[in-house]
Amino acid sequence: MNTTGPAHTPRASRPAVFLDRDGTINEDLHYLHEPEKVILCPGVGEGLQLLQRAGYALIVVTNQSGVGRGYFPLEDVHAVNDRLSELLKPWGVEILAYYIAPEKPEDPSFGRKPKPDFLFQARDRFGLSLKDSFFIGDKKVDLETGWNAGLRESILVRTGKGAREEEKDPALGQRAHICGNLGEAARYILSLDSRG
Ligand SMILES: [Mg+2]
Repeated sequence: MNTTGPAHTPRASRPAVFLDRDGTINEDLHYLHEPEKVILCPGVGEGLQLLQRAGYALIVVTNQSGVGRGYFPLEDVHAVNDRLSELLKPWGVEILAYYIAPEKPEDPSFGRKPKPDFLFQARDRFGLSLKDSFFIGDKKVDLETGWNAGLRESILVRTGKGAREEEKDPALGQRAHICGNLGEAARYILSLDSRG
């Protein structure tokens, strides 16, 4: 007899922090695709280490329209992701999964942000509790992805394009918490947890 529930039933209730990549974890070079050019933003190693120790699954969700536009192949995206994982090793940080939307904005896409579908896929794959999870990113589209998936909160970082996004749309701060960088965002999340 099959006693397991439907495939979409989470097996556990582990929280996650979903992370944008360019401008949030690493410096946002225009259409970054060369692994040797990857530079971590300030506070990233320490911040992700804190979150991981607190039990958060760390998952990257990245739009890479440079692939769809023909600027670079998907293999370059994987190479940059591999380099990021390598740079995070000294902190013992492990990115559980990288979700990539390679399409250009006007093309149909399964999970291009702000669509929440990669987050649902990750929930089913890793048994995540989305209502206890967060999205951290440097663009409005990252915040929207978190809101569309029903996460606990979306957090804007002022690294990458974040400061400009905040300037463009000051109302963002009414719905999203805004932090200087990923390290600050991590400490903000832990401060919420310690308040219960
Ligand atoms: Mg970004």
